[in-house]
Amino acid sequence: MATVAPVSVRCGIKDVAESPVLAMKEVEIARRLAVVRVRIAAAAEREGLSPLNVRILAVSKAHGSEAVRAGLAAGLTDFGENYVGEGVAKMNELGLGARWHFIGRLQSNKTRLVAERFDWVHTVFREREVMRLNSQRPAASLPLNVCIQVRMQDADARPALPAEEVPGLAALISAQPRLRLRGLMGVPIPDAPRDAYLRLRSLFDELNASGLNLDTLSMGMTADLETAVECGATLVRVGTALFGPRPPR
Ligand SMILES: *Cc1c(COP(=O)(O)O)cnc(C)c1O
Repeated sequence: MATVAPVSVRCGIKDVAESPVLAMKEVEIARRLAVVRVRIAAAAEREGLSPLNVRILAVSKAHGSEAVRAGLAAGLTDFGENYVGEGVAKMNELGLGARWHFIGRLQSNKTRLVAERFDWVHTVFREREVMRLNSQRPAASLPLNVCIQVRMQDADARPALPAEEVPGLAALISAQPRLRLRGLMGVPIPDAPRDAYLRLRSLFDELNASGLNLDTLSMGMTADLETAVECGATLVRVGTALFGPRPPR
């Protein structure tokens, strides 16, 4: 009885077992993933939360498609990219098997590729992009999963939506047939993430109490994922801890 390698089946890749380099990378990423899972579990346990409620988004930006391939083999399912072209190139190389999240700055002239090729976008904060993504999402695809990027601190210069404007945009997104509002995303400035994360969690809870059905609070990266999990993150975006330092572009 031939045993079918589940990885080959899942991602349509035949060369996993044949390439020693890929096999090494796969073992390395599997080891790193185990460490990340322990970090998440320890943080969740400190707050009496279930680590099962925390998903891992593997941020593969600046790493090649072989890193994604090894990540899939190690059991990762969701990959995050900051540049549309780079993400699409990896999708084209890999074929089916991964779920792709756009986590970079959303530019109006790039919304079409995001709408056509990605499964998720975490960085929506303007009405204009909402309308474009909705009209550009192909009818044959499932609705595009959307998180609103929320401004975390007054000092934050990054483009994001102030908290008081989130309910309005959330209502607009919820009304679009080709979009599915999943939750909120935040990138805090480094010095005081805990307060910012707790505020984002409160906003998330308020939106759900007001009748929305959000399941995704996207916050925390390699350096601060424990803090984010303690504050109630349901998805952490992890690059370096899984794939190692990013090669210079
Ligand atoms: C690059 C990036 C990450 C991952 O960062 P690491 O520190 O490598 O884990 C997460 N979120 C966003 C928005 C990013 O740009």
